[in-house]
Amino acid sequence: MVMASEALKKYPFLIGADTYLVGLSLSNLDEFPRILELAENKIRFLLRLSKLPPNINDKKESVAVFTASLAMVSFTNNRRLIRSYGYALSRELEENLAMDSPKSYLTVASSLGMKAGYDGQRFDMALVDYLKLKGIDNDPALMLPQLPLKRGTIYLSPNVFRLMISRVFRWVVVDKMESQMAELRHAALSDRVKAAINSIMADFSKKKGLEVDVSSLSPVESLFPPCIKFWAAEMNKGVNIPHQARFLVATFLIALDMDVDEVLNYFKHTPDYDERIARYQIEDLAGERGSGKKYSVPRCDTLRTLGVCVCREGLCTHMSHPLLYYRISIEKKLKGDKNAGTDCAKSFP
Ligand code: SF4
Repeated sequence: MVMASEALKKYPFLIGADTYLVGLSLSNLDEFPRILELAENKIRFLLRLSKLPPNINDKKESVAVFTASLAMVSFTNNRRLIRSYGYALSRELEENLAMDSPKSYLTVASSLGMKAGYDGQRFDMALVDYLKLKGIDNDPALMLPQLPLKRGTIYLSPNVFRLMISRVFRWVVVDKMESQMAELRHAALSDRVKAAINSIMADFSKKKGLEVDVSSLSPVESLFPPCIKFWAAEMNKGVNIPHQARFLVATFLIALDMDVDEVLNYFKHTPDYDERIARYQIEDLAGERGSGKKYSVPRCDTLRTLGVCVCREGLCTHMSHPLLYYRISIEKKLKGDKNAGTDCAKSFP
């Protein structure tokens, strides 16, 4: 299958990409030194271990580098690293899609097994196909109640469809890397390949070790991100805030390891407050009920799409996640920065 060079260079997992992979495997990667070097650069760049992006020439290189990088990360046998790389790849995909026309989304989506249509303005998907999707159940913007549904078809704006593609892609690559883990564990690797993988693992562990683990710190409300402060203050005033904002506040506080009673305190002035129901919902979000699944705090791009983000200044100008905002604010405060946690404070006293 002949593929447009630019498309395959940007999306090296499109159907037909594997025709460019003849003879390449983790065991013989040292025979392809340029691919090995670019794959290592790609992993380091996407995991923010280096600021140097890989300089990939064409679609063949891109496919080989993408595949080699997945195999190298799988070989680490480190689920945290695998999840971080899957997350980084999906962020890269979302950024690339955002620069393309929505028409191109369908090609990418179908390579991930997603069936959808596009009428030039919005995407549509049969409910039965939506229900088969994996990887989207942690994002409030992608949950069924948020999506217009008519006669068995759901409708999605280009922004929401792009988010959906990136979440499905993340699930696909993480699943692929996790399935490869056992298979590759006994692969015979050359010293050069082993050294590259070990050095990535060492730098990744060092970086993660240096980061502040927000759940280990007592919550310092003044350093919370503006969105949490704003919606918590609105609830305190008795305002009936949107469902997505409640989801954000609850998942954020749960991520800080607050217990259910502490989280409930934030909700008790809402007009429809019913302690029994609220407790049930918070326990459910914390993974203490039902499936045992703990819900994640949504990312800033999701919150912007939902209209729940309230600040685009200072740290929030390019912020990716409310927990990252909190962690950076704590680090700034520890360094004596008096302005830590004050972004947009004047806009909503
Ligand atoms: S940028 Fe992120 S952290 Fe800042 S207010 Fe918006 S959603 Fe919250």
